[in-house]
Amino acid sequence: MEQKNICKKCRNHLEALSEKLPLSEKELDILQTPRKIIQFKIPLERDNGKRIVLDGYRVQYNNALGPTKGGIRFHQGVNLDEVKLLAFLMTLKCSLAGLPYGGAKGGVRVEVKDFSQKELETLSRGYIKGIYQDIGPQKDIPAPDVNTNHLVMDWMADEYSKLVGKYTPAVITGKSVEKDGSQGRLIATAFGGSIALRELAGEGLKVAIQGFGNVGSHLAQILSQWGHAIIAVSDVDGGVYDKKGLNIKEIISKQGLITEKKNISNRELLELECDVLAPCAVSHQITIENAERIKAKVILEMANAPTMPDADSILIEKGIKIIPDILANAGGVIVSYFEWLQNLKGEKWTEKEVLEKLEEKITEAVKKVVEISREKNCDLRTAANIAAVNRILEAEKKRGNL
Ligand code: NAD
Repeated sequence: MEQKNICKKCRNHLEALSEKLPLSEKELDILQTPRKIIQFKIPLERDNGKRIVLDGYRVQYNNALGPTKGGIRFHQGVNLDEVKLLAFLMTLKCSLAGLPYGGAKGGVRVEVKDFSQKELETLSRGYIKGIYQDIGPQKDIPAPDVNTNHLVMDWMADEYSKLVGKYTPAVITGKSVEKDGSQGRLIATAFGGSIALRELAGEGLKVAIQGFGNVGSHLAQILSQWGHAIIAVSDVDGGVYDKKGLNIKEIISKQGLITEKKNISNRELLELECDVLAPCAVSHQITIENAERIKAKVILEMANAPTMPDADSILIEKGIKIIPDILANAGGVIVSYFEWLQNLKGEKWTEKEVLEKLEEKITEAVKKVVEISREKNCDLRTAANIAAVNRILEAEKKRGNL
């Protein structure tokens, strides 16, 4: 295999499993090597007439289980190494969730904060012009990620359909409901995480939530409806804390209330005395610097990679149960799968149907992870990774690659 394409960070990830899951060099080779890396340029004319050329990426990491699946982000920090690692993590997430998908990820290195709607649309359509021959309902199915949403997905699905000359909604998921998106997609990630928490941590818990965007606000709503006390929530500027529990309905209905009533920093929130800490914001929030001071009994990783790998062992040593990201936030990709199925079959499912099927998939995945963690006497993250890797290797064997 071509050494230069290896994903070194993915290899480190796999090597961390070696004590519980020894892998042969051939297996490691397959798992550390992205199948296809697409790099392309996206020319764009800004509203002021200035022409710029942006770097676009798509990494289709592994397709042993089926077409690849993963989001597209628009962010100034996008680079090939990061896209490779995120595509690898999507491969694990889809495998653990039992989906017939491999993993992928894409992105454009761009700061979109000051982009107009028109510029965003041109960028979204430009991305698809760059990769349309490499994606498709049975090849690779993109979805939203950082700074991309249902509108961006609608433009992308439309552009693809125009380029191939056929209406093809199943090429992209995360579309708006009016454009053949799925009911339930908005709350899917939070609902999936709530089910995982119910299965692994029980009832009547005190929960602190970092990040109050799509995932954090829906998680707060669901968990407070289920009788848990949400004692703190935050956004990028800080948060509100009340050890007796916050009124989540009020916080959601009155925009700006978090800023107005701010009485805690994001850093303090992470270190609160509580049963559950749910990071729902950005990566790398729990580090070797603060891990020792985390007092939660359970960490529900709703964000992708909120815990730095070297902080993990400190938390485990302290007896903290970590519900890992590839399990906790898999609800999003599971409902994306349901959207793809509905598009392929020309069906429209109700929110109730979607959430029932999601609950089934998450509880199955939780069961598998718990079984492996008991069998191998390991933490939940290691167990989740073992389950995911084993299913991929089985598929590689069936395909004659091992
Ligand atoms: P979002 O943009 O809607 O919300 C992010 C929230 O985090 C906002 O409240 C923002 O103010 C806050 N925030 C940003 N930077 C912060 C910082 N440095 N410290 C504290 N708070 C900060 O995003 P989202 O869709 O809710 O996603 C949140 C996380 O969940 C991301 O890591 C994302 O990758 C992950 N995730 C989301 C989905 C999904 O379906 N939306 C699926 C899987 C994983």
